[in-house]
Amino acid sequence: MQERRTCRKVTVGDDRVGRLGIGGDSPVSVQSMCSVFTHEIDTCLAEINKLAAAGADIVRVAVPERKDTEALAEIMKQTPVPIVADVHFHYKRALEAVEAGVHKIRLNPGNISDRDQVNEVIDACKSAGIPIRIGVNEGSIIERKDKQKRMEELGAYFEGHRSGHLLAIMIAKLEEYLDIFAERDFHDVVISAKSMDATLVIDAYTEIARRFDYPLHLGVTHAGTRETGSIRSIAALGTLLANGIGDTIRISYASDPVYEVEDGVELLCSLAMRDRTGIELIACPTCGRIQVDLFTLVEEVKKTLETEITVPMKVAVMGCVVNGPGEAEGADVAVFAGNKRGIIYVQGERVANVKEEEILECLLAECTSFQTRILNGEATLGQKNVEIIPPDPIGELGSGEDKIRSGDVEQITIGKT
Ligand code: SF4
Repeated sequence: MQERRTCRKVTVGDDRVGRLGIGGDSPVSVQSMCSVFTHEIDTCLAEINKLAAAGADIVRVAVPERKDTEALAEIMKQTPVPIVADVHFHYKRALEAVEAGVHKIRLNPGNISDRDQVNEVIDACKSAGIPIRIGVNEGSIIERKDKQKRMEELGAYFEGHRSGHLLAIMIAKLEEYLDIFAERDFHDVVISAKSMDATLVIDAYTEIARRFDYPLHLGVTHAGTRETGSIRSIAALGTLLANGIGDTIRISYASDPVYEVEDGVELLCSLAMRDRTGIELIACPTCGRIQVDLFTLVEEVKKTLETEITVPMKVAVMGCVVNGPGEAEGADVAVFAGNKRGIIYVQGERVANVKEEEILECLLAECTSFQTRILNGEATLGQKNVEIIPPDPIGELGSGEDKIRSGDVEQITIGKT
């Protein structure tokens, strides 16, 4: 992991929702965007609450129409997290959103470029003391006039890069736009430069990080469904964050935005940039050694523990004795399975050996009881120095023994030839 890039800091929020820094020494935050109409106030607030509960630090809402900015005034009274108004085409929506008390504005240089209009938005944000994100998107900045000629000209800036012209135009647009902000002496700025191409996202943010000292909002746009989108997003955002680049992230999927938040939070936790607030579940992928229905077990464990466990304990659900003991040593509560049975450990102490149909109930009971001990100060999370002596894989768990007895496989004794 590279040291985090130093940059300016902006603040979003207010006395009621609290103030959150983006950039500087602030932790990397997670954002998402509502998928419902902003003017349907109750539905919009319900989604904002759902996203906040999933771990979103900031939520963005679209304000394409006057009725959306009108609804913002009420939304601002009830939201639990800072709200960003996403403005395209109509600069007046930005002015109305500021008037409604929004915490940040997002402008797209690809569709609001009139200098006087941008100046009006800058002045309004300056008076309200709120930042502006300049969000360049590959899809909305492509120049259609003299396209081929421009592509060749721009491509020359990053010769050899397969999307050099796009990289150049993204940076040129940003530079042009930032000049307007600099002339107004307005520096409460966050930058984003998104594309659906993960490699372009990595290169664009890396280049921007070298050129500007504003905080960066990372994202891969139009990433698709969660299945493909998560891979594109984690490839790009994970690389950038590991390289010390990025101050706030938004993963975007063509799906329920709660998944965006869940995956954004998991990414930050995986990179040790955020502390976990619930369980960390470890599970093996299974292989030809598996002798229980591990996939169902893992799903059930995840579903139940997510709602019942609030302390960040590590839980391992492993298929067999090959990797089970190793993972169990690092986990607070663990099970590794054998032939229709499971052995359960709590911080290295073996507490049960149960039939397959009893594994879930027993594991959940141990997790709950361990949580109570943690909350009472009787145990410590992540206790190290745990050593598990693996059970005899062909004996106690039954795995393999029956095969040897039946003559299906030959028992191998080390040293015997
Ligand atoms: S723990 Fe066992 S069952 Fe799971 S993948 Fe490893 S070897 Fe296979």
